[in-house]
Amino acid sequence: VRQLPSQGARAPLAVDAVGAVLRGPADQLAVRRANLGLVLRHLRRTGPTSRARVATGTGLNKATVSSLVGELVERGLLAERGAMPAGDVGRPGRVVAVAGSGAAGVGLEVNVDYVAAVALDLDARVLFSARTALDVPRAGAGAALDEVARLVRTASAAAASAGAPPVGAVLAVPGLVRSGGGTVALAPNLGWRDVPVRDELVRRLGTHLPLGVDNEANLSALAEAAQGAATGASDLVHLTGEVGVGAGVVVGGRLVRGAAGYGGEVGHMPLDPAGERCGCGRRGCWETVVGLAALLRAAADPDDPVRDPSLDLERRLDELRRRADAGDARTLAALAGVGEGLGVGLSVLVNVLDPQVVVLGGCFAVLGEHLLPPLLAQLRERVVAPGPAGTRVVLSALGFTAAARGGAQVALDAVLDDPTLVPLAAHPAPALPPVAAGPAGAGAALPIEEAQR
Ligand SMILES: [Zn+2]
Repeated sequence: VRQLPSQGARAPLAVDAVGAVLRGPADQLAVRRANLGLVLRHLRRTGPTSRARVATGTGLNKATVSSLVGELVERGLLAERGAMPAGDVGRPGRVVAVAGSGAAGVGLEVNVDYVAAVALDLDARVLFSARTALDVPRAGAGAALDEVARLVRTASAAAASAGAPPVGAVLAVPGLVRSGGGTVALAPNLGWRDVPVRDELVRRLGTHLPLGVDNEANLSALAEAAQGAATGASDLVHLTGEVGVGAGVVVGGRLVRGAAGYGGEVGHMPLDPAGERCGCGRRGCWETVVGLAALLRAAADPDDPVRDPSLDLERRLDELRRRADAGDARTLAALAGVGEGLGVGLSVLVNVLDPQVVVLGGCFAVLGEHLLPPLLAQLRERVVAPGPAGTRVVLSALGFTAAARGGAQVALDAVLDDPTLVPLAAHPAPALPPVAAGPAGAGAALPIEEAQR
């Protein structure tokens, strides 16, 4: 079983082919793979364009680009799209574009009271999406991973029947994932300790699909930065609110994982050493004030359906929001308390990290309208930098699907790093209609940072 590369790796560089020839056949294959990935990533960024423009944009020569494009078409990852629109500079030539259905990534999430899956193609189209309500701490890791495996099979089958071969699956978990090994060292709110998640999934699924495991907040941050509320931001904090609270932190365009992969555990910042007992065993962690359990305890009695973990979480949160919108005093007071607590903890993160954007995800996104006013008041009060620091606080655009979508994205990134993961002639690429004037077709300048050497 291949391990998926960790996120945040730089785009592969065009490699000196002459040097590789001198170093031997293994290097030549590595160069070929890297250059296939370079061309694919380039076309994903620019949109449909000619081979000549790919050559200019990547710094590869035209003959090499023609050969690489030919192979990518055979692998179903690129498709011919007719001629460049009239009026474009230079001779008219055929245009190539990323074939969205060339590959599908499967993303999964296991959380305290649900297991979810999504399959995305290379155009980030959703081919499959499902969520199962499950009391995971009570069901145990074995039953939860049975359900994950079932969803991997269903999502893969749905992607394949939509014409996009699945190339990998990445599971998001609310806990500490040991770098590289696919083992969850600790997920306090699931009651998991040293669970070899990837090995367990391989045992259930066989070895046909590369499998990865990552922290849910990390994957959510990647999804929001790629296609959500923080698109294009290079410095962001994505805060997920479930029973646990975690952060995916992106600094300078890179995910901050820490030395062993355990970074971002903001839910266990000890904000009140004399406070409530946390799922981790300590006292006064931030999530004991702002996590879902704290919110529900404050908002409803134990026999209230909004506190029933066997019911779908989104429906329970919709009910809470309905009560708040209707002016229910207890609900509003509970949300005001959580909003204030969020602002206090976030001011620590904003003072330390100075992000452009803070994205509120999970439960926080659903209830955001009611959380934001007290949250922003605390930020204004406690952030040292003026303004406060120019940080925008936005609600997740992807909601509960963010972590799973991030997982699917990471699975697809493996293909962008090594397009040979998709076998030759896995499926014949359909001829697509001629391109309308797109970003590159309209003669827009190619990004110059890819012109190497
Ligand atoms: Zn804790």
